[in-house]
Amino acid sequence: MVTDACPCGTGAAYAACCGRFHHGEAAPTAERLMRSRYAAFVVGDRGYLFRSWHPRTRPEEVVLEPSLTWEGLEITDVVAGGANDETGEVAFVARWRTTDGRRGEVVERSRFVRRAGRWLYLDGDVG
Ligand SMILES: [Zn+2]
Repeated sequence: MVTDACPCGTGAAYAACCGRFHHGEAAPTAERLMRSRYAAFVVGDRGYLFRSWHPRTRPEEVVLEPSLTWEGLEITDVVAGGANDETGEVAFVARWRTTDGRRGEVVERSRFVRRAGRWLYLDGDVG
């Protein structure tokens, strides 16, 4: 169980940070949605990953890689995605480690759109 610091790295408690969004509250900005999706990977909330993914681009089923442990998220750039925007971009680095000790990172610039008052992940450029 995750009961203490939110894995997204804000320093806030999980329940007061991304946990609220995992339990149904709408994330107010694209960055908060991005952070909550990272946290969902950490806590294994596949349903949230599916719901927060645009219906046009999401997979039929979100598959989590069980050998990966996510070790940290760093937001490197945010473009729009605020309360008065309909689109936004968030660039990030997410670090992982495998059970056999390999380490790596995902570097991505993700695009988000707001649809019926909720931010959704649309797609992203990796690298
Ligand atoms: Zn969080």
